Amino acid sequence: MTSVKIAVLSIITVLIAWNSNAQDIDYAKKTIEILSSAKMHGRGYVKNGDFKAARFIAKEFKSIGLEPLSDNYFQGFDFSVNSFPSKMKFKVDDNLLSPGYDFLIDPASPGIKGSFPVCILKEYSNLNALVNRLNSRKESFVLVVDWFSLSDLSEEKRNELKANLARFQRNGFSKLSAIVEYSTEKLTWTGSTGLLSLPRFTVKASEFGLNENSTLTFNVKNKFRKEYHSNNIIGYLPGENTDSVIVLSAHYDHLGRMGKGCYFPGANDNASGVAMLLNQARELKHVKRPYSILFIAFAAEEIGLLGSGYYVAHPLIELDRIKFLLNLDLAGTGDEGIQIVNGSIHTALFSKIQTLNRRDNLLTKVKTRGAACNSDHCHFHERNVPSFFIYTLGGIKAYHDVYDRYETLPLTAYDGYFKLLNRFILSL
Ligand SMILES: [Zn+2]
Repeated sequence: MTSVKIAVLSIITVLIAWNSNAQDIDYAKKTIEILSSAKMHGRGYVKNGDFKAARFIAKEFKSIGLEPLSDNYFQGFDFSVNSFPSKMKFKVDDNLLSPGYDFLIDPASPGIKGSFPVCILKEYSNLNALVNRLNSRKESFVLVVDWFSLSDLSEEKRNELKANLARFQRNGFSKLSAIVEYSTEKLTWTGSTGLLSLPRFTVKASEFGLNENSTLTFNVKNKFRKEYHSNNIIGYLPGENTDSVIVLSAHYDHLGRMGKGCYFPGANDNASGVAMLLNQARELKHVKRPYSILFIAFAAEEIGLLGSGYYVAHPLIELDRIKFLLNLDLAGTGDEGIQIVNGSIHTALFSKIQTLNRRDNLLTKVKTRGAACNSDHCHFHERNVPSFFIYTLGGIKAYHDVYDRYETLPLTAYDGYFKLLNRFILSL
Protein backbone atom coordinates (compact mmCIF):
# COMPACT_ATOMS: atom_id res chain seq x y z
CA MET A 1 0.00 0.00 0.00
CA THR A 2 1.31 3.45 -0.84
CA SER A 3 1.86 6.01 1.87
CA VAL A 4 -0.81 8.20 0.25
CA LYS A 5 -3.30 5.36 0.58
CA ILE A 6 -2.25 4.78 4.20
CA ALA A 7 -2.66 8.49 4.91
CA VAL A 8 -6.10 8.54 3.28
CA LEU A 9 -7.14 5.40 5.16
CA SER A 10 -5.98 6.73 8.50
CA ILE A 11 -7.83 10.00 7.90
CA ILE A 12 -10.96 7.97 7.14
CA THR A 13 -10.38 5.86 10.30
CA VAL A 14 -9.95 8.99 12.39
CA LEU A 15 -13.09 10.50 10.85
CA ILE A 16 -15.12 7.35 11.57
CA ALA A 17 -13.85 7.24 15.15
CA TRP A 18 -14.49 10.94 15.59
CA ASN A 19 -17.92 10.59 14.09
CA SER A 20 -18.90 7.65 16.31
CA ASN A 21 -17.72 9.57 19.42
CA ALA A 22 -19.74 12.56 18.31
CA GLN A 23 -22.77 10.31 17.87
CA ASP A 24 -22.25 8.79 21.33
CA ILE A 25 -22.18 12.13 23.09
CA ASP A 26 -25.02 13.51 20.96
CA TYR A 27 -27.12 10.48 21.85
CA ALA A 28 -26.23 10.89 25.54
CA LYS A 29 -27.13 14.59 25.48
CA LYS A 30 -30.46 13.94 23.79
CA THR A 31 -31.27 11.15 26.27
CA ILE A 32 -30.37 13.28 29.30
CA GLU A 33 -32.35 16.22 27.94
CA ILE A 34 -35.45 14.06 27.51
CA LEU A 35 -35.18 12.27 30.87
CA SER A 36 -34.62 15.48 32.82
CA SER A 37 -37.26 17.53 31.00
CA ALA A 38 -40.39 18.82 32.77
CA LYS A 39 -42.42 16.25 30.82
CA MET A 40 -40.84 13.49 32.93
CA HIS A 41 -41.83 15.35 36.13
CA GLY A 42 -38.56 14.47 37.88
CA ARG A 43 -39.10 10.71 37.31
CA GLY A 44 -40.85 10.31 40.65
CA TYR A 45 -44.30 9.57 41.97
CA VAL A 46 -46.27 12.53 40.69
CA LYS A 47 -48.01 12.61 37.30
CA ASN A 48 -46.67 9.14 36.42
CA GLY A 49 -43.19 10.62 36.01
CA ASP A 50 -41.45 7.33 36.79
CA PHE A 51 -43.63 5.41 34.33
CA LYS A 52 -43.03 7.95 31.55
CA ALA A 53 -39.29 7.50 32.00
CA ALA A 54 -39.68 3.70 32.17
CA ARG A 55 -41.62 3.67 28.90
CA PHE A 56 -38.98 5.82 27.21
CA ILE A 57 -36.16 3.50 28.35
CA ALA A 58 -38.07 0.36 27.27
CA LYS A 59 -38.57 1.94 23.84
CA GLU A 60 -34.83 2.57 23.61
CA PHE A 61 -34.05 -1.01 24.68
CA LYS A 62 -36.29 -2.21 21.87
CA SER A 63 -34.81 -0.01 19.18
CA ILE A 64 -31.27 -0.99 20.26
CA GLY A 65 -32.30 -4.64 19.93
CA LEU A 66 -32.06 -5.84 23.54
CA GLU A 67 -34.16 -8.89 24.34
CA PRO A 68 -36.80 -8.88 27.08
CA LEU A 69 -36.52 -11.70 29.65
CA SER A 70 -40.30 -11.99 30.04
CA ASP A 71 -43.23 -10.77 27.91
CA ASN A 72 -41.75 -7.30 28.07
CA TYR A 73 -38.91 -5.28 29.62
CA PHE A 74 -40.85 -4.43 32.79
CA GLN A 75 -40.37 -5.97 36.23
CA GLY A 76 -43.09 -4.43 38.41
CA PHE A 77 -43.30 -4.11 42.17
CA ASP A 78 -45.23 -2.07 44.76
CA PHE A 79 -44.25 0.18 47.63
CA SER A 80 -45.70 3.02 49.68
CA VAL A 81 -44.68 6.60 48.96
CA ASN A 82 -45.55 10.10 50.14
CA SER A 83 -45.90 12.75 47.43
CA PHE A 84 -46.79 16.43 46.87
CA PRO A 85 -48.66 16.60 43.56
CA SER A 86 -50.59 19.84 44.00
CA LYS A 87 -50.54 22.79 46.41
CA MET A 88 -47.24 23.95 47.91
CA LYS A 89 -47.64 27.47 49.31
CA PHE A 90 -45.48 28.88 52.10
CA LYS A 91 -45.54 32.57 53.09
CA VAL A 92 -43.53 34.50 55.67
CA ASP A 93 -45.84 37.45 56.34
CA ASP A 94 -46.37 38.84 52.81
CA ASN A 95 -43.36 37.10 51.26
CA LEU A 96 -44.20 34.12 49.11
CA LEU A 97 -41.36 31.58 49.20
CA SER A 98 -40.38 29.63 46.12
CA PRO A 99 -40.50 25.84 46.52
CA GLY A 100 -37.18 24.13 45.83
CA TYR A 101 -35.28 27.45 45.75
CA ASP A 102 -36.25 29.04 49.08
CA PHE A 103 -37.49 26.00 50.97
CA LEU A 104 -38.00 22.24 51.00
CA ILE A 105 -40.65 20.20 52.74
CA ASP A 106 -39.57 17.09 54.60
CA PRO A 107 -40.71 14.23 52.31
CA ALA A 108 -42.52 12.42 55.16
CA SER A 109 -44.69 15.48 55.92
CA PRO A 110 -48.49 15.56 55.91
CA GLY A 111 -50.29 18.57 54.38
CA ILE A 112 -50.98 21.81 56.27
CA LYS A 113 -53.33 24.74 55.72
CA GLY A 114 -53.68 27.97 57.70
CA SER A 115 -51.80 30.89 59.29
CA PHE A 116 -49.74 30.51 62.45
CA PRO A 117 -47.67 32.61 64.86
CA VAL A 118 -44.10 31.50 65.47
CA CYS A 119 -41.92 30.49 68.38
CA ILE A 120 -38.25 30.95 67.44
CA LEU A 121 -35.72 28.66 69.10
CA LYS A 122 -32.33 30.37 69.40
CA GLU A 123 -30.97 28.49 72.38
CA TYR A 124 -31.31 25.02 73.81
CA SER A 125 -30.37 23.70 77.23
CA ASN A 126 -32.48 20.58 77.75
CA LEU A 127 -35.70 18.86 76.76
CA ASN A 128 -37.60 19.96 79.90
CA ALA A 129 -36.98 23.65 79.25
CA LEU A 130 -38.04 23.21 75.62
CA VAL A 131 -41.19 21.28 76.54
CA ASN A 132 -42.14 23.91 79.16
CA ARG A 133 -41.68 26.66 76.63
CA LEU A 134 -43.76 24.88 73.98
CA ASN A 135 -46.45 23.91 76.50
CA SER A 136 -46.90 27.55 77.50
CA ARG A 137 -48.42 28.25 74.07
CA LYS A 138 -52.20 28.21 74.17
CA GLU A 139 -52.80 28.46 70.41
CA SER A 140 -51.49 26.52 67.44
CA PHE A 141 -48.03 27.74 66.43
CA VAL A 142 -44.97 26.88 64.36
CA LEU A 143 -41.61 26.16 65.97
CA VAL A 144 -38.78 27.85 64.05
CA VAL A 145 -35.39 26.34 64.79
CA ASP A 146 -32.64 28.89 64.15
CA TRP A 147 -29.61 26.67 63.54
CA PHE A 148 -27.43 29.75 62.95
CA SER A 149 -28.00 31.00 66.51
CA LEU A 150 -27.59 27.41 67.73
CA SER A 151 -24.27 26.93 65.96
CA ASP A 152 -22.34 26.99 69.25
CA LEU A 153 -24.20 23.97 70.65
CA SER A 154 -22.03 20.99 71.51
CA GLU A 155 -22.28 17.97 69.24
CA GLU A 156 -24.09 16.09 72.01
CA LYS A 157 -26.69 18.83 72.61
CA ARG A 158 -27.19 19.29 68.87
CA ASN A 159 -27.94 15.57 68.47
CA GLU A 160 -30.24 15.63 71.49
CA LEU A 161 -32.23 18.54 70.02
CA LYS A 162 -32.40 16.82 66.61
CA ALA A 163 -33.68 13.63 68.23
CA ASN A 164 -36.36 15.59 70.12
CA LEU A 165 -37.48 17.41 66.96
CA ALA A 166 -37.70 14.05 65.19
CA ARG A 167 -39.86 12.73 68.04
CA PHE A 168 -42.21 15.74 67.82
CA GLN A 169 -42.43 15.21 64.08
CA ARG A 170 -43.22 11.54 64.49
CA ASN A 171 -45.77 11.78 67.31
CA GLY A 172 -47.00 15.38 67.20
CA PHE A 173 -46.76 17.61 70.25
CA SER A 174 -49.39 19.72 72.02
CA LYS A 175 -50.23 22.87 70.01
CA LEU A 176 -47.29 22.49 67.66
CA SER A 177 -48.48 22.62 64.00
CA ALA A 178 -45.22 22.48 62.08
CA ILE A 179 -41.45 22.72 62.43
CA VAL A 180 -39.42 25.12 60.30
CA GLU A 181 -35.63 24.95 60.32
CA TYR A 182 -33.13 27.51 59.08
CA SER A 183 -30.75 25.70 56.79
CA THR A 184 -27.05 26.26 57.31
CA GLU A 185 -26.26 24.09 54.27
CA LYS A 186 -27.51 23.86 50.69
CA LEU A 187 -31.06 22.58 50.25
CA THR A 188 -30.94 18.84 49.49
CA TRP A 189 -34.17 16.90 49.01
CA THR A 190 -34.99 13.22 49.28
CA GLY A 191 -38.04 10.90 49.20
CA SER A 192 -40.02 8.96 51.79
CA THR A 193 -41.98 5.72 51.92
CA GLY A 194 -43.51 6.77 55.25
CA LEU A 195 -45.74 9.53 56.62
CA LEU A 196 -45.18 11.36 59.92
CA SER A 197 -47.52 13.43 62.11
CA LEU A 198 -46.12 16.94 61.68
CA PRO A 199 -45.04 18.86 58.57
CA ARG A 200 -41.46 20.03 58.67
CA PHE A 201 -39.77 22.57 56.39
CA THR A 202 -36.21 23.68 55.74
CA VAL A 203 -35.81 27.31 54.65
CA LYS A 204 -32.92 29.39 53.47
CA ALA A 205 -32.88 31.80 56.35
CA SER A 206 -32.56 35.57 56.74
CA GLU A 207 -33.92 36.56 53.34
CA PHE A 208 -37.54 36.68 54.44
CA GLY A 209 -37.40 38.88 57.53
CA LEU A 210 -38.82 36.15 59.76
CA ASN A 211 -39.07 37.43 63.36
CA GLU A 212 -40.96 36.82 66.62
CA ASN A 213 -43.98 38.72 65.30
CA SER A 214 -44.12 36.97 61.93
CA THR A 215 -47.06 34.95 60.68
CA LEU A 216 -46.46 31.87 58.59
CA THR A 217 -49.12 30.86 56.09
CA PHE A 218 -49.23 27.43 54.50
CA ASN A 219 -51.31 25.65 51.93
CA VAL A 220 -49.69 22.29 51.29
CA LYS A 221 -51.33 19.10 50.13
CA ASN A 222 -49.72 15.69 50.31
CA LYS A 223 -50.81 12.41 48.81
CA PHE A 224 -49.74 9.24 50.55
CA ARG A 225 -49.95 6.21 48.27
CA LYS A 226 -49.96 2.85 49.98
CA GLU A 227 -49.36 0.72 46.90
CA TYR A 228 -47.53 2.61 44.24
CA HIS A 229 -46.52 0.48 41.26
CA SER A 230 -43.15 1.02 39.61
CA ASN A 231 -40.93 -1.01 37.27
CA ASN A 232 -37.32 -2.05 36.79
CA ILE A 233 -36.53 -2.07 33.05
CA ILE A 234 -34.52 -5.13 32.03
CA GLY A 235 -32.97 -5.97 28.64
CA TYR A 236 -30.66 -8.80 27.62
CA LEU A 237 -27.87 -9.16 25.09
CA PRO A 238 -26.85 -12.81 24.70
CA GLY A 239 -23.15 -13.53 24.10
CA GLU A 240 -21.26 -16.69 23.18
CA ASN A 241 -21.43 -17.83 26.79
CA THR A 242 -24.94 -17.56 28.24
CA ASP A 243 -24.06 -19.15 31.60
CA SER A 244 -22.05 -16.18 32.67
CA VAL A 245 -23.53 -12.72 32.66
CA ILE A 246 -22.24 -9.22 33.16
CA VAL A 247 -24.77 -6.76 34.54
CA LEU A 248 -24.72 -3.07 33.71
CA SER A 249 -27.12 -1.08 35.89
CA ALA A 250 -28.21 2.51 36.50
CA HIS A 251 -31.23 3.83 38.37
CA TYR A 252 -33.62 5.97 36.33
CA ASP A 253 -35.91 7.31 39.09
CA HIS A 254 -35.39 10.66 40.77
CA LEU A 255 -37.27 12.77 43.32
CA GLY A 256 -40.27 13.86 41.27
CA ARG A 257 -42.20 17.04 42.02
CA MET A 258 -42.58 19.16 45.13
CA GLY A 259 -45.86 20.84 44.31
CA LYS A 260 -47.13 21.87 40.91
CA GLY A 261 -44.45 24.39 40.02
CA CYS A 262 -41.29 22.66 41.18
CA TYR A 263 -39.61 19.54 39.86
CA PHE A 264 -36.22 17.91 40.38
CA PRO A 265 -34.68 17.24 36.95
CA GLY A 266 -31.99 14.77 38.09
CA ALA A 267 -29.81 15.30 35.01
CA ASN A 268 -26.63 14.08 36.68
CA ASP A 269 -28.57 11.88 39.14
CA ASN A 270 -29.15 9.72 37.18
CA ALA A 271 -30.30 10.57 33.66
CA SER A 272 -26.57 10.63 32.90
CA GLY A 273 -26.04 7.05 34.11
CA VAL A 274 -29.03 5.82 32.08
CA ALA A 275 -27.66 7.59 29.00
CA MET A 276 -24.30 5.86 29.56
CA LEU A 277 -26.02 2.49 29.99
CA LEU A 278 -28.01 2.93 26.75
CA ASN A 279 -24.91 4.15 24.95
CA GLN A 280 -22.94 1.07 26.04
CA ALA A 281 -25.80 -1.18 24.90
CA ARG A 282 -25.77 0.49 21.48
CA GLU A 283 -22.05 -0.10 21.18
CA LEU A 284 -21.85 -3.61 22.69
CA LYS A 285 -24.66 -4.86 20.49
CA HIS A 286 -22.26 -4.76 17.51
CA VAL A 287 -19.23 -6.27 19.23
CA LYS A 288 -18.42 -9.97 19.56
CA ARG A 289 -18.47 -10.70 23.27
CA PRO A 290 -17.67 -13.86 25.22
CA TYR A 291 -20.28 -13.06 27.88
CA SER A 292 -23.94 -12.17 27.89
CA ILE A 293 -24.85 -8.75 29.21
CA LEU A 294 -27.90 -7.79 31.22
CA PHE A 295 -28.92 -4.13 31.26
CA ILE A 296 -31.04 -3.02 34.20
CA ALA A 297 -32.49 0.46 34.68
CA PHE A 298 -33.55 0.31 38.32
CA ALA A 299 -36.62 2.05 39.74
CA ALA A 300 -37.04 3.55 43.22
CA GLU A 301 -33.36 3.90 44.10
CA GLU A 302 -33.76 7.30 45.71
CA ILE A 303 -36.26 6.14 48.33
CA GLY A 304 -34.20 3.24 49.59
CA LEU A 305 -32.70 1.10 46.78
CA LEU A 306 -36.10 -0.58 46.38
CA GLY A 307 -35.84 -1.64 42.71
CA SER A 308 -32.52 -3.43 43.16
CA GLY A 309 -33.80 -4.92 46.44
CA TYR A 310 -36.76 -6.35 44.54
CA TYR A 311 -34.54 -7.72 41.79
CA VAL A 312 -32.22 -9.65 44.13
CA ALA A 313 -35.30 -11.16 45.81
CA HIS A 314 -36.85 -12.01 42.39
CA PRO A 315 -33.93 -12.39 39.97
CA LEU A 316 -34.69 -12.99 36.28
CA ILE A 317 -31.14 -14.29 35.92
CA GLU A 318 -29.87 -16.10 39.02
CA LEU A 319 -27.37 -14.17 41.09
CA ASP A 320 -24.74 -16.94 40.94
CA ARG A 321 -24.64 -16.56 37.16
CA ILE A 322 -23.55 -12.94 37.45
CA LYS A 323 -19.83 -12.72 36.78
CA PHE A 324 -19.67 -9.01 37.56
CA LEU A 325 -22.03 -6.05 38.10
CA LEU A 326 -21.16 -2.52 37.11
CA ASN A 327 -23.50 0.10 38.58
CA LEU A 328 -23.44 3.66 37.24
CA ASP A 329 -24.75 6.76 38.97
CA LEU A 330 -23.82 10.45 38.50
CA ALA A 331 -22.03 9.96 35.16
CA GLY A 332 -22.27 13.56 34.00
CA THR A 333 -19.12 15.31 35.24
CA GLY A 334 -15.61 13.80 35.51
CA ASP A 335 -13.39 16.91 35.75
CA GLU A 336 -11.65 15.12 38.60
CA GLY A 337 -12.01 11.60 37.23
CA ILE A 338 -14.08 8.78 38.71
CA GLN A 339 -14.52 7.06 42.06
CA ILE A 340 -14.92 3.27 42.26
CA VAL A 341 -16.79 1.86 45.26
CA ASN A 342 -15.56 -1.71 46.01
CA GLY A 343 -12.31 -0.89 44.16
CA SER A 344 -10.30 -1.78 47.26
CA ILE A 345 -12.17 -5.11 47.53
CA HIS A 346 -11.80 -6.35 43.95
CA THR A 347 -8.21 -5.18 43.65
CA ALA A 348 -7.26 -7.16 40.51
CA LEU A 349 -10.17 -5.66 38.57
CA PHE A 350 -9.39 -2.23 39.95
CA SER A 351 -5.80 -2.58 38.69
CA LYS A 352 -7.15 -3.65 35.34
CA ILE A 353 -9.36 -0.57 34.91
CA GLN A 354 -6.54 1.66 36.11
CA THR A 355 -4.14 0.12 33.62
CA LEU A 356 -6.63 0.59 30.78
CA ASN A 357 -7.06 4.21 31.81
CA ARG A 358 -3.33 4.90 31.93
CA ARG A 359 -2.66 3.06 28.68
CA ASP A 360 -5.22 5.05 26.71
CA ASN A 361 -5.01 8.26 28.73
CA LEU A 362 -8.78 8.57 29.17
CA LEU A 363 -9.57 10.13 32.57
CA THR A 364 -7.56 12.37 34.89
CA LYS A 365 -8.01 10.03 37.87
CA VAL A 366 -9.44 6.63 38.75
CA LYS A 367 -9.90 6.58 42.51
CA THR A 368 -10.72 3.65 44.75
CA ARG A 369 -12.69 3.22 47.96
CA GLY A 370 -14.12 0.36 50.00
CA ALA A 371 -17.68 -0.92 50.30
CA ALA A 372 -20.52 1.62 50.65
CA CYS A 373 -24.24 0.95 50.59
CA ASN A 374 -24.96 4.12 48.63
CA SER A 375 -26.52 2.82 45.41
CA ASP A 376 -28.06 -0.25 43.74
CA HIS A 377 -24.89 -2.38 43.70
CA CYS A 378 -25.29 -2.71 47.50
CA HIS A 379 -27.92 -5.48 47.43
CA PHE A 380 -25.77 -7.49 45.01
CA HIS A 381 -22.58 -6.90 46.97
CA GLU A 382 -24.31 -8.13 50.14
CA ARG A 383 -25.17 -11.36 48.32
CA ASN A 384 -21.58 -11.89 47.22
CA VAL A 385 -22.05 -10.77 43.62
CA PRO A 386 -18.78 -9.00 42.72
CA SER A 387 -19.52 -5.40 41.78
CA PHE A 388 -18.20 -1.91 41.19
CA PHE A 389 -20.23 1.23 41.69
CA ILE A 390 -18.73 4.08 39.67
CA TYR A 391 -19.51 7.81 39.82
CA THR A 392 -17.80 10.80 38.25
CA LEU A 393 -16.05 13.48 40.36
CA GLY A 394 -15.73 17.27 40.15
CA GLY A 395 -17.70 19.73 38.07
CA ILE A 396 -21.03 20.81 39.50
CA LYS A 397 -22.28 21.01 43.10
CA ALA A 398 -25.92 20.40 42.15
CA TYR A 399 -27.24 17.28 43.86
CA HIS A 400 -30.80 16.36 44.86
CA ASP A 401 -31.89 19.92 44.14
CA VAL A 402 -33.59 21.99 41.45
CA TYR A 403 -30.21 22.90 39.95
CA ASP A 404 -29.32 19.40 38.71
CA ARG A 405 -30.32 20.37 35.17
CA TYR A 406 -29.41 19.26 31.66
CA GLU A 407 -28.45 22.81 30.64
CA THR A 408 -25.64 23.02 33.18
CA LEU A 409 -24.43 19.42 33.18
CA PRO A 410 -20.83 19.59 31.95
CA LEU A 411 -20.34 16.00 30.62
CA THR A 412 -16.67 16.99 30.66
CA ALA A 413 -15.17 13.52 30.58
CA TYR A 414 -18.03 11.65 28.95
CA ASP A 415 -16.09 10.43 25.94
CA GLY A 416 -13.13 9.12 27.95
CA TYR A 417 -15.46 7.57 30.52
CA PHE A 418 -17.48 5.87 27.78
CA LYS A 419 -14.34 4.34 26.24
CA LEU A 420 -12.92 3.26 29.58
CA LEU A 421 -16.13 1.46 30.57
CA ASN A 422 -16.41 -0.15 27.15
CA ARG A 423 -12.84 -1.43 27.18
CA PHE A 424 -13.20 -2.63 30.77
CA ILE A 425 -16.43 -4.54 30.02
CA LEU A 426 -14.81 -6.22 27.02
CA SER A 427 -11.76 -7.14 29.12
CA LEU A 428 -13.79 -8.97 31.79
ZN1 LIG B 1 -28.47 8.53 42.10
